[in-house]
Amino acid sequence: MRILILQVAPQTRARPLPRFDARLGTLLTLLAQRGHELHLIGLSRFDELHVKAALTRCLPQLVFADISPVCVGAARRTLEFLGTREFLPIVAGGAYPTVAPADALSLPGVTAVAIGEPDATLVTYFERLKDPVAPAAVRGVWLRDEQGLTRPQLPALVEDLDSLPFAERELFGCAAWLERTGELEIAVGRGCPQRCGYCPNDAERALYEGRGTWVRRRSPGNVLDEIAVVRDRHATVRSVRILDHAFALDDRWLGGFCDVYAQRCGLPLRCHLRANAITAARLDVLRRSNLREADVEVISGSDFIRNEIFAMELSNGQIHEAFCALHAAGVATRAVVYLGSPYESEASMEDTLRLLRRLRPTRVDVRPYYPFPGTRAATDPCQNNGWLCARGEEEYHADRPGIEMPACRPALVAAGIRRIRAEFSTESSGPWWRRLHHAPLRLLQLIRGR
Ligand code: SF4
Repeated sequence: MRILILQVAPQTRARPLPRFDARLGTLLTLLAQRGHELHLIGLSRFDELHVKAALTRCLPQLVFADISPVCVGAARRTLEFLGTREFLPIVAGGAYPTVAPADALSLPGVTAVAIGEPDATLVTYFERLKDPVAPAAVRGVWLRDEQGLTRPQLPALVEDLDSLPFAERELFGCAAWLERTGELEIAVGRGCPQRCGYCPNDAERALYEGRGTWVRRRSPGNVLDEIAVVRDRHATVRSVRILDHAFALDDRWLGGFCDVYAQRCGLPLRCHLRANAITAARLDVLRRSNLREADVEVISGSDFIRNEIFAMELSNGQIHEAFCALHAAGVATRAVVYLGSPYESEASMEDTLRLLRRLRPTRVDVRPYYPFPGTRAATDPCQNNGWLCARGEEEYHADRPGIEMPACRPALVAAGIRRIRAEFSTESSGPWWRRLHHAPLRLLQLIRGR
């Protein structure tokens, strides 16, 4: 079957779409292995010319839309347009349909919605479509037809991640990305044991309750095999970025991974680290794997927002200690911060600015808060207090938060975001005058021979 895949996702930090996504990449490999002909385009907003060109090039028999919760409007307009031009079955999947399947099923032309991890759902569903007499119901795929709505249970989780093939990369424009950045992105597992109130992880975990182990990791050898395959294809790989937030939370697995990584790869490594889980022992292990940069979720300078609203169980003191330890070890840091979170105020934004000045991160990724559907914070306090903004998605794309509170108007948040971006570096590279304040860290790395 010829399938046109639409990745409907926000264009963050000027990054081109389609953008590598490990879960979607694995699905694409599985579909290609079954003989489907795949065409992938990325959209952050409705783009008639782009869609028309893709239809002409691909001549699809089916459309699969992978929809982000911050691009539902873009998906709706695109699917509406498709409906006016072609009579094509449309299947939706990804983060939005997983947390709001009934809403996703009411998008124009959508006849089926895949919930959760797509390997065991969509692959089977697309195979069934080849056979008109096969029963259409597949676990995890909601259907709407003349008979009404079918909502089968989810299948069990895939526990042995090594049994899955390596993710497709070329359709995502991997060559151009590596040419530009040299950074190979890879996922080493699925699921996360943390319960941050702003994250959809919790909702998805609840869907899979009783259907297998939620936090799963690939074997280190399997991860390094994939890195080797990509490096063989692309001589431009200069560093590796681990995408998982739970990467460094299991000491036994981490020790094994870092040893194998040091032996078989050794390229500069970037990963997510939880500030209250950065112990001296873990840092030692990570440095064996040539750790160069850590992404740390700071989220807010307000203890109240971080812990009472988002349940991160993380104090300002722990964050400060973590940044000091990372910098002392010669590791560059990227602090991730939200402005416009529930109960944000001018005072809490000042707290965030003060904390960042104290932390001195190498760079800051500051984003407007968006209440992702299905997250705890989106329901309570945002929905319960009537703070959800009707134009939330458009606000998000305009760098403003998706909620509106009387004490903290979006314009105030937008000004706060501009202020942080003006004071801190947002890029790992850039003009020389912006990189000057990284000089002591670079010097330390050179002295340590890294
Ligand atoms: S650590 Fe990351 S992935 Fe895990 S719950 Fe928090 S935000 Fe979500």
